[in-house]
Amino acid sequence: CAPGAGPRAVPAPVTVLAGPTAVGKGTVSAAIRARYPQIWLSVSATTRPPRPGERDGVHYRFLSEDEFTELVESGQMLEWAVVHGRHRYGTPRGPVEQAVAEGRPVLLEIDLAGARQIRETLPDSRFVFLAPPDWDTLVQRLVGRGTESEEERERRLATARIELAAEGEFDVTVVNDTVDRASAQLAALMGVGDLT
Ligand code: 5GP
Repeated sequence: CAPGAGPRAVPAPVTVLAGPTAVGKGTVSAAIRARYPQIWLSVSATTRPPRPGERDGVHYRFLSEDEFTELVESGQMLEWAVVHGRHRYGTPRGPVEQAVAEGRPVLLEIDLAGARQIRETLPDSRFVFLAPPDWDTLVQRLVGRGTESEEERERRLATARIELAAEGEFDVTVVNDTVDRASAQLAALMGVGDLT
């Protein structure tokens, strides 16, 4: 039996983590996965090609356009969105429902449009906004990552400005000043303690 997967009277709520591009959602999620194995982290599906080091089924389920469409049309996506005007990303429904049924605390790391859909479909979820300490830090993180072209970076920063203005829609803000602090704060919000 996995840690934290024991029976519970009330299903654990789903926690949605959203925030602007390059704020560190992926890094915080990876830290959560490593430090808090009780938390079940959804693996999103995407039509974007893998980056170096990314593995299918671990970081994402990398799908063709047709495969993604098939999941959407058969009702197997809890939410999905076109992110940064390019590729589609979505949360496969079945694994989330199974984790909730098992009483696991579930974490979805998704974009703002996806978070808004979850507000409709799973309104009891907890909505957490991951914010950068300030705008300059966000720009530095995006440039430092070096994974996007200049054009792509500009596109993502334009999206980030809009996304930052949506903070008020969320139940709580976690500032990603350090990954350790942000992931510990998020785990605490999810009612999960540190095992280390
Ligand atoms: P990246 O291409 O850098 O891995 O992710 C780009 C964006 O897609 C991030 O803002 C991330 O939050 C978002 N994203 C990742 N998975 C999902 C998902 O399942 N649904 C939605 N709506 N957005 C997602």
